[in-house]
This record gives sequence, structure tokens and C-alpha cells, in this order.
Amino acid sequence: MAYSEVDNVSGYIGNFKVTIRKKARYVDEKQCNACGECAKVCPVAIPDEYQMGFSSRKAIYIQLPQAVPSSYVIDMKTCLGNNPIACAKCLEVCEKKCIDFDMHDEFVTVDVGAIIVAVGNDVYDPTELDEYGYRSYENVITSMEFERLICASGPTEGHFVRPSDRTTPKSIGFVQCVGSRSQKRGNPYCSNICCMNTIKDTVLLKDHYPGIDLKVFYMDIRAFGKGFEDLYMRSKAEGVQYIRGLPGDVEEDPKTGNLIVTVENTTTGKIEKHEVDMLVLSVGLLPRKDSEVVRQLLTLSKTSDGFFMESHPKLKPVDAPTRGVFLAGCAESPKDVKDSVTQASAAASRANIVLAAGKIKVEAITAHIDPDLCKYCGLCVKVCPYKAITQTDRKTKVPAKVIEAACAGCGTCGAECAFGAITMRHFQDNQIYAQIDAILEENSQNKVVVFACNWCSYAGADFAGVSRLQYPATNRLIRTMCSGRVNEDFVLYAFRKGAPIVLVSGCHFADCHYINANRQTVLRVERLWDQLEKKGIRPERLQLEWISAAEGQKFALVMREVEEMRKKVTAKEVEFTKQALAPKKKEEPKEKKEAAKTQ
Ligand code: SF4
Ligand code: SF4
Repeated sequence: MAYSEVDNVSGYIGNFKVTIRKKARYVDEKQCNACGECAKVCPVAIPDEYQMGFSSRKAIYIQLPQAVPSSYVIDMKTCLGNNPIACAKCLEVCEKKCIDFDMHDEFVTVDVGAIIVAVGNDVYDPTELDEYGYRSYENVITSMEFERLICASGPTEGHFVRPSDRTTPKSIGFVQCVGSRSQKRGNPYCSNICCMNTIKDTVLLKDHYPGIDLKVFYMDIRAFGKGFEDLYMRSKAEGVQYIRGLPGDVEEDPKTGNLIVTVENTTTGKIEKHEVDMLVLSVGLLPRKDSEVVRQLLTLSKTSDGFFMESHPKLKPVDAPTRGVFLAGCAESPKDVKDSVTQASAAASRANIVLAAGKIKVEAITAHIDPDLCKYCGLCVKVCPYKAITQTDRKTKVPAKVIEAACAGCGTCGAECAFGAITMRHFQDNQIYAQIDAILEENSQNKVVVFACNWCSYAGADFAGVSRLQYPATNRLIRTMCSGRVNEDFVLYAFRKGAPIVLVSGCHFADCHYINANRQTVLRVERLWDQLEKKGIRPERLQLEWISAAEGQKFALVMREVEEMRKKVTAKEVEFTKQALAPKKKEEPKEKKEAAKTQ
């Protein structure tokens, strides 16, 4: 559906309901034959965004030559004829009578079994990099602007000219990594496409203008794909000069409009000055500005660089953490055309598996709610990152219910329910209490209880193991799927049983495999720190750490640190803790009893 936005998404794998806002075009797309008579008479002229402002468009326009459907649309922000009609020249000339100023947005709801997210990307705006003079000098352009200037359907019909005087440049410089691979300005990640895009551009220019002088200023060239090295060699063989070093300064010669580029050539170690007619900044790729809306609609997670996170980087690279949702192209990371097509094909195949299956199998690790124990508080509904729990109603006594097809098994709901109504299959409360009991049964003073999330911290322990890294044997791990599964009572129970130190560890924030379940971990640990402090127990005896699967070394280091802490906890302190946290009545701890009831 062209010219539309997703307004709302509900449901789960195999059973999504998507509401789409079909934006009013003010032109009947079925009737319009794109004759263009309307645009001819439209008095409005504004910079054409598609042509990067190098040409103008009317208020009634076709966004791009290949637009589907090939129908005009009115941009109401710039149209003069709207409410009250002041112009309406287009309306008068349209023979097909397909212009309708009273058109409204329409809402269409469709049922779909799977969703593919292909939101594309934005590009970096190099204005903040003063040294390149992007906004100050007309002949400094970005790689996106270059694409329009060299394109046959562009504002100059493919005749490459420089903006200041519309002459064909005799020399062009390209600056790589603009807004990419920088910790200070722009983004730390490599934008993946810029090296090959520039190499392609140099080959193209040499084909069109054999005498042109081309220089590429680079940090290093990443020509890693099939045929890429050949193209790089071809560019060099055609005389393109590759200079290792990023310019520190660009100045304009006001008489000629030429640019003087100062660069430290890191191969020769010398400061050089190069005069070029034009400078092209190879700008990096950014996540879409409005991707947050999509993230919320589909309960997706993002990596620290702002792109959507895949379910597993190796085993499920096109699946989103929300089942039934798949990622394609730059939604997941910067990609070139080939990789985008490959990933889109994979996403389509993965989606087709869901559609063809008729029914789906889900992992057995899901939550189950006992309706008799549910007190309708709705807390589990609030914390579930996947919206997998149906709304409760206190008045009509509607208990919470888990939609198992949507549940990912993080256990956050299980840790939140204060009434023991939720059982986490395979990670039941009584199983976890039994592990705590076993760890602290003997010699509890010498043990550190570690709750480790399956995907990161526990995997970090594995990595430490295979890397033969040493860490103290006094640390005892209890695996949970997510740190969000760690119930506050598990921690208190461990202290009651004599644990000197308890460590809760999970994935770094941006890497949570359950969208943002580990945010609940933080809230719970903070509550516990307050509680311990109020009872006169040193809060630092409860530690919280984020350790990724690749951080075996960090895992070993943290284990050594907590062991040092353990040595400083006295037997007297442990005894005091047991008493301070002891249940008021002489009976089994409340949480253990409730857990037993649910099993
Ligand atoms: S948190 Fe427990 S009691 Fe509250 S709604 Fe959920 S299952 Fe019911
Ligand atoms: S286990 Fe996680 S995903 Fe499943 S219902 Fe509970 S909070 Fe939601």
C-alpha cells in the first residue's frame, strides 16, 4: 500500500491485526493517468527532496519517477488551494476530474500471519564536521547528492556538474568515513557501503570523463565482498589516487570556487595540500529517525547503534525477538544492495514458513498463570516485554492469561507476581529455591550465589571456561533465561540461607534478548538495595553486573572481584542478616510455600 503508514499492530505470530493509515493523496490514484497538466499550472515551487534540493517541484507532484502507483499527490503543507480554496488551478485543468480537496485519510485493518520490517535508513548530516565546510562551500556535497547529480533521471539528466557554476569538474576529491567509525562525532560503527560506493563512483566518473582527476581520502578501504577487490583494483588501474589520511581542513578559493584540502598522508607521514574542483563527503548510514514508532508497535529491541536487533546474530539473523516478525535490509544494520536483497529473501522465506505451517510450535519455556491464584493486579501485564499477557479486570474478576504463542519465556512476569500465580515452565520457583538450598547447604559462608542469564552472563561463563580463564570455585551459578526472572524473594532467600554475597548478572541493556526485560532487573535490585539498607545489611553484598556472551574475561574478573568481597563478609554479619530477614512467624518462608502451591 503506497503512501500509507502503519497505525497500530496487535496480536501475535500467525494472528496479527495491522491497522494502516492510508494517507489522503487528494488525487484519485485510480483515475489519475499522470499526464502532468496539474503540475504545469501549479504556481508553487519548492526544493525537490528527492533530487536533494538540486531542482524544484510543485505542490502537486509525483515523488519519484518510478513511483507506484504512477499518480500525482498533493502536498497539503505547501498547496495554496486548501481550505478555503484560494488557487485550485490544478482542479480546473484536470480533465479526468480526479482531484478532490475533501479527501480524508482512510484506515484499513488487515489480518496477517507474519510481518517483515524493511524501514530503510537515513543518512548522516555532515554539518557538524566544520572542517569539511559542507554548509559553507557550494562545491562540497554528500555522496547522496552525488548520486542525484550523476543519475540519468536526476536534475542534470546525468551530466555531472558542480553546483557553484554548473561546469564539469576536472578534479574531484572523496572523503571517506564521514560520520562513521568515530567515537567523538557521528557514529562508532562502520557504515558498510561507503568504500564500495565511492569506488563505484570513481569507476563511473572515469568511464564518463576519462581525463578527470580523482582522489580518495580514506582511513582504510574495506573491499570485502565478492568482486569488490577487483573493482577497487580497476579504480586504481584507471588512475584514481588513494591517499591514506582524512582531511583536517578544507578551504575554498573564493575566486575559483575550488577547494584546498589539507591532509596528513599517513603513508608518507607528510602534511599535503590538494586542490580539487569538488569534494564529495562519503556519508554514513543511520537508523531511520521514526524507527522508534515501529519499535514500539512491534515490541522490537534495538542495538546500541539504534538499528533493530535480530533474535540471534548467528542462528536467527533475520528473525526479530518478537515471533512472527522478520527484519530486512538496513532496518537491522547498514547494508549494500546485495546484502539487502539476500536478507529480504531470507526474511520472506522465514515468513513463508510461518504462513505455510498452518500451526506453529513454540518453545516449551513459557509462563503459565493459575487463574485461581491471580489477584487481577495486572502487574505481569505491565512488565511483559512481548505484550503476551491479556489484560486483567479487578471488578469483573478477569484473571491474567498468557498467550503462549507470544510468550518468549523471559520469566519477568513470574518474578513480578507477588501471589505466586505464575509458573515458569523449566524454571519453576521451587526448582530455583532447591538450587539455592543445595548451594548453601554446607559451608554457606564460603559461597557466592550467582544468578546468571542464559544468553549473556551464563554464556560468558562458558566462554571463560573454553578460554581456560581461572575464576574462584566458590562462585555457584544458577541459570535463568533472563535476569528479569530473578524474583526479589530468591535473593532474600539466599541471604536467609547464609549467602555472604549474591550476584545478579545479565545482558548489557542494549543486548537484552527479551527486548527490555533487564530494565525490570534493575528496578528489582534497586528495591532490594533499599530494603537491605533499611534492615542494616550492607547493600553491596548484592551485586548487579552486565556481562555479554563474548566477555569471558569480564566474567572471570567479576567472579574474582565478588570473591574478594565475600572474604570480607564476617560470620557475624551473615548471622545478623539471617535474623534481620527472617520471616516473622516460625514457618516456611511465604514465597517458598506459595511457590510449592503453584507447582
Ligand atoms: S501479577 Fe499475578 S496476580 Fe497480578 S495479574 Fe499477573 S498473574 Fe495475576
Ligand atoms: S515469560 Fe516473559 S514473555 Fe512470557 S508472559 Fe511472562 S513476561 Fe511475557
